[in-house]
Amino acid sequence: MVTGAARGIGAATAIRLASDGFSVAVIDLDEPSCARTVAAIQDSGGNAVGIGADVTDASTVRAAVEAVANKLGAPTGLVNNAGIVRDSLLFKMEESDWDAVISVHLRGAFLMSKAVQPHMFDAGWGRIVNISSTSALGNRGQANYAAAKAGLQGLTKSLAIELGVFGVTVNCVAPGFIDTEMTRSTAARIGKTFETYSDELVASIPVGRPGKPKDVAAAVSFFLRDEASFVSGQVLYVGGGPFT
Ligand code: NDP
Repeated sequence: MVTGAARGIGAATAIRLASDGFSVAVIDLDEPSCARTVAAIQDSGGNAVGIGADVTDASTVRAAVEAVANKLGAPTGLVNNAGIVRDSLLFKMEESDWDAVISVHLRGAFLMSKAVQPHMFDAGWGRIVNISSTSALGNRGQANYAAAKAGLQGLTKSLAIELGVFGVTVNCVAPGFIDTEMTRSTAARIGKTFETYSDELVASIPVGRPGKPKDVAAAVSFFLRDEASFVSGQVLYVGGGPFT
C-alpha cells in the first residue's frame, strides 16, 4: 500500500515496487486520481489497484486496508507517503494550517500503520516506510511540516521497537528537494519560476541537481526487501548530500 500515490514520489514508489514484483495498492484521496499510476503499472505488466481513501479518516483507512486484503491479499508492505504543505511563518500560521499538516502526515501514518499491523502480525512479516523530510531538521516557514516530519521519525523508531519481534521493520526515508507538484506549487506560491527556485536550492546540494521521485523510490525499495530484515528504526536522508 502506497499512500498519496496518484502522483509525485508516491506514484514513482508505487511503480518501482510493482517492478520489484509487489502487487501494489495505489491509495489517494479519490479513486479516479489513482488511475494514471495504476495504468502505468498495468501497462508494464504489474499488478495494481487504485483505492480512494483520506488517510486522516479512521473508518475510511480501515475500509481501504480491508479492500486491499480482499483484492490483493494481506497488505504486508506500507509506505506512508501522503502529504501536504501549509507553509507560513509562525505569526501568520493559522491553527487550521497546523492541524491539517499534522493530521495528514502524523495521524495518517498512525492510522494506516495501526490498520495494517494485524495483517503483518498474522504474516510474521511486514515493512513500513514513512516518508519524512530533511525539513524535520528545521526549516523556516515550515513549523507545522517540520514538526510532523520529525514526529514521523519518532513514530518510526517506536514502531520499530514494538514490531520487530513480529518480523516487521519500520524505517524512514527523508527526502531533500525533489521535483514534484508539491515543490512546483511552493515555487508558484512564493512568486518564483520553478527554474529560479530550483537553481537557488540546488546551489546548496552537493550532487548539484534536484532529486527526482525515482531517487526516493529506490531508497524505499531497499527497505521493502527481504534482505533488509536487519535494518529497522533508521532514517535514510535522500537529499544529494549529508544530513544529520
Ligand atoms: P505531491 O503533492 O506531489 O503528492 C502528494 C499526494 O498525496 C497527492 O496526490 C495528494 O492528493 C495526496 N494526499 C494529500 N492528502 C492526502 C490524504 N489526506 N489522504 C490521501 N492522500 C493524500 O507531493 P510529493 O510527491 O512531493 O510528496 C510526497 C511525500 O514526500 C510527502 O509526504 C512529502 O511531504 C514528502 N516530501 C516531499 C519532498 C519534495 O521535495 N517534493 C521533500 C521531502 C519530503 P491531492 O493532490 O488530491 O492533494
